[in-house]
Amino acid sequence: MIDVAIVGAGPAGAVAAMRLARRGAKVVLLEKESLPRNKSCSGILYHRARRQLESEFTLSVAPMVLKEIFSTRITLLRDNHSAAAARPVAPFSIVERNRFDRFLVQTATDNGATLFSPFKVDTIDRSGKGIRLSGPSGHIDATHVILADGANSPLTELAGWNPNSAMVAALHCVVMLPYQSWQRFGDVATINFDLPDNGIAVLSPTGYNTLNVTLFALGGRQNHRQLQTMLSELLKQLELPMPAQIEQHSIPVSPVKGGLARDGIYLIGDAAGLVDPLIGEGLSAAIGSALLAADSIADHLQDPGAATADYQQKMEQSWLADLALSKRAASLLYASDTLRRWIIRNHSGPFLNVSLDIALGTKTYRDLHSWIIQRVLNKLPAPLRMVVEKVL
Ligand SMILES: Cc1cc2nc3c(=O)[nH]c(=O)nc-3n(C[C@H](O)[C@H](O)[C@H](O)COP(=O)(O)OP(=O)(O)OC[C@H]3O[C@@H](n4cnc5c(N)ncnc54)[C@H](O)[C@@H]3O)c2cc1C
Repeated sequence: MIDVAIVGAGPAGAVAAMRLARRGAKVVLLEKESLPRNKSCSGILYHRARRQLESEFTLSVAPMVLKEIFSTRITLLRDNHSAAAARPVAPFSIVERNRFDRFLVQTATDNGATLFSPFKVDTIDRSGKGIRLSGPSGHIDATHVILADGANSPLTELAGWNPNSAMVAALHCVVMLPYQSWQRFGDVATINFDLPDNGIAVLSPTGYNTLNVTLFALGGRQNHRQLQTMLSELLKQLELPMPAQIEQHSIPVSPVKGGLARDGIYLIGDAAGLVDPLIGEGLSAAIGSALLAADSIADHLQDPGAATADYQQKMEQSWLADLALSKRAASLLYASDTLRRWIIRNHSGPFLNVSLDIALGTKTYRDLHSWIIQRVLNKLPAPLRMVVEKVL
């Protein structure tokens, strides 16, 4: 019997394996693909994700970075509106996900985790002493199991959770950047807020004259076919060529219902539904949830019940609280076209600043929420303020 089996060697699984191995647990990482596996992604590593890796593990991600992005631009293409801001620390680092994810797995195995790849897990059986994971390559018995098998995880359902219904459509493609467009896009991350409708388009340059273009239907209204029409309009407006290949994905923008851990089985990353609903970014919470799950398990290695409760509590106090606020902001921003345009046209500066603070990890959604509440409270007459403070 091993201490911990982790299903899925994406960033969430690899980081959990790294942490558990460093803390002395006997840990195996089971990945259905041969590595490096293919992962389509805009490749934007937000600084808030990067700094968790670099500070928690004294690990340098620099060799994996294709490009540091210091400038960000937000646009409303249909209104011909654009605003930009730069920071001295790069809020975004561009990585090639196949290489980056492989690097994290390598770091985990260097620290003592055991990798089985390819090893597809098909069933979870809790009838014996521990938890048995089985697939065509064999079986593994473990005291704790972390499910890090990504979006649309069938294993979470097998383990007793309901399927995550909060999935939104995303399209991803790589566009060759004509030389004359390089200056416009080459050193800046661009986020457009009116194409697609009720969502965003993220344009991120890689190091090789190519542009990753991802459309996220964050308002949850468009399907892949509608996003495809909007992608054509977007590329036409930007005078960029249509790519030969366009990939369709779904991203989970709400945590799965019913808690993130049960009797020694823990959900992390996309399997837990932790993509940020405001910006479609998933690596920060994937890494954050992996660290918390790994620490809860390492602190209670012989007591899955205590580890389960500890992980759930820590997530509620941190990532789940933050993502709930992001969800509220997303409901406002992507439900109302008028409000979105008004905020971005008239308050681009503060909007960009807040977005960059979040990307850098210098502020959380909880910090911003408290700041807004405080500002509103300060405007109220003292007696009313006391009443409202009590309610809050
Ligand atoms: C088009 C697109 C663009 C994105 N762009 C960004 C971005 O720029 N920045 C950002 O931060 N986030 C981005 N995201 C989100 C980000 O990719 C995810 O949040 C992140 O990959 C989650 O990591 P994970 O480890 O939870 O899951 P994954 O990276 O999906 O890893 C899951 C792993 O589990 C394995 N697996 C699955 N089933 C089994 C099984 N039964 N047995 C064994 N192994 C299994 C898979 O092969 C895979 O390796 C994007 C998502 C999409 C779809």
